[in-house]
Amino acid sequence: MKDYDYYVKKAGDFHGHACAGIALGTKISLAAMKALGLDPDVKNKNLIVYTEIDRCMTDAVQVITGCTLGHRSLKYMDYGKFAATFVNTKTGKAVRATVMEHISNEATIEETLEKISRIPESEMVTLQEVTVKIPETDLPGTPQEKAVCAACGEMVMDGRQVKKGGKALCRACANGGYYNAP
Ligand SMILES: [Zn+2]
Ligand SMILES: [Zn+2]
Repeated sequence: MKDYDYYVKKAGDFHGHACAGIALGTKISLAAMKALGLDPDVKNKNLIVYTEIDRCMTDAVQVITGCTLGHRSLKYMDYGKFAATFVNTKTGKAVRATVMEHISNEATIEETLEKISRIPESEMVTLQEVTVKIPETDLPGTPQEKAVCAACGEMVMDGRQVKKGGKALCRACANGGYYNAP
């Protein structure tokens, strides 16, 4: 495992800038991966991460863990919290990592980042052992289920269809979508 500076730089390069969120995401990812006995420098096929926020922090989590939405190894829980749960699917061990203290901003971003870099992970990250039941239809790999929506005709993967009046519908047709088509 390389040092914090290496990983925070890598995460910042992907994200487009260095910021407190990237620093915190780096800290929680490294702390959680150590706790699970996983090495960030190799491909971790048995790691699934649930992130609880769609902000800077999650870009660091993605870069350091290698987990992505496209591989179904990154799950997004819309909680608006600076937290993520790291699951080792091989051992079943899972840790939820949260940021312990609010980091006060210094005069410049450089000073804030410098301050964060000096705080040990153990003083900044709370790790909590949790259990996570991952549904079969959420796992990476070959899709277990496919359906065609009876209303729009579009394909629905991985059991996300809903039954209404005996028909399989996509969620947008069943419950109303986030978009309006003219
Ligand atoms: Zn940022
Ligand atoms: Zn539909």
